[in-house]
Amino acid sequence: MKPAPFAYHRATSAEHAAALLDGLGPEARVLAGGQSLVPSMNLRLMTPPHVIDIGGVGTLAFIRREGARLVIGAMTRQSTVEESPLVSEAVPLLAEAVRHVAHPPIRHRGTVVGSIAHASAVAELPAVALALDADIVVQGVAGCRTVAASEFFIGPFATSRGADELVVEVRFPVAGPGHGWAWRELSPRNGNFPFAGAGVALAFADGVIERAAVALCGISDRPVRATAAEQALVGERWTPDLLTDAAALVVEGIAPRPDNDVAAHIVPVRANSVASWSYRTKVARTQARLAMAAAVDRAFRTEGDPR
Ligand SMILES: Cc1cc2nc3c(=O)[nH]c(=O)nc-3n(C[C@H](O)[C@H](O)[C@H](O)COP(=O)(O)OP(=O)(O)OC[C@H]3O[C@@H](n4cnc5c(N)ncnc54)[C@H](O)[C@@H]3O)c2cc1C
Repeated sequence: MKPAPFAYHRATSAEHAAALLDGLGPEARVLAGGQSLVPSMNLRLMTPPHVIDIGGVGTLAFIRREGARLVIGAMTRQSTVEESPLVSEAVPLLAEAVRHVAHPPIRHRGTVVGSIAHASAVAELPAVALALDADIVVQGVAGCRTVAASEFFIGPFATSRGADELVVEVRFPVAGPGHGWAWRELSPRNGNFPFAGAGVALAFADGVIERAAVALCGISDRPVRATAAEQALVGERWTPDLLTDAAALVVEGIAPRPDNDVAAHIVPVRANSVASWSYRTKVARTQARLAMAAAVDRAFRTEGDPR
């Protein structure tokens, strides 16, 4: 299929893109890597009258370390992040999760920020941003503001970005000493969106879990934190029983969804990942358990055994 007619605008800077968004109205859409927008337009699931291409804005394509933050610009491709030694060292959870996004040709075009702005409930990278308490920087005509990931994802494909704002960068905290991480997911096929996935980031201090983040995709209308499991982990020493207890709490407090409701939020490959909510929660529990165990192993490897 072909998209409905639209006007194409080529932005020359972030400021120009923000001005275009402001002037063209709330139906205008930003084109980054196009790996979600273009299929959605071709299927007529989205019919924006205006498309603002930021692909030529070279100043938005960067990965840089700023103190305790790793900052990724809006036009940084997923494949660039995947191959970056800086990302592997500073934000290893992101480096691991991005390899699960689609296939190499899609990652070659798709951007990390585009995935976060798109805010699919089943996507890996929004869940990673949530797990790591990343900050999302948006730019409007009046300037920039920073939104915590916990405030950014507000529903299916919905964020707290204003319609007249461009996401310009995402700021990830750099992993500190005693840090363990892991992304685990189950997909119908390699390269498909997962039924459910889990990103875990743990920080140990003197053998005690000081910080625990467990974020899930695929079981709600947005990425969610498994707060009950996190609370069970914080302040504890690692034991096999602790893993069992935390895994049992992974979906505690997460509101049930109607069957296939989550899959209905998958664009453009919705038919491939249809599954009941009950199945998704089982997958989430299993994947979170695997991710917690792997995160602990890695923390022990980097720090010596803190048990
Ligand atoms: C076959 C296939 C399989 C896929 N499998 C997966 C998968 O397993 N996991 C996964 O996570 N993703 C998957 N994707 C989606 C892919 O990762 C996309 O690249 C990603 O969702 C969007 O990034 P993009 O740069 O292509 O954004 P685009 O498609 O250009 O934009 C997506 C949306 O975000 C908005 N947007 C983009 N950038 C900005 C910005 N800077 N500011 C404001 N709004 C912005 C756009 O207006 C649009 O609404 C798949 C895609 C395909 C085609």
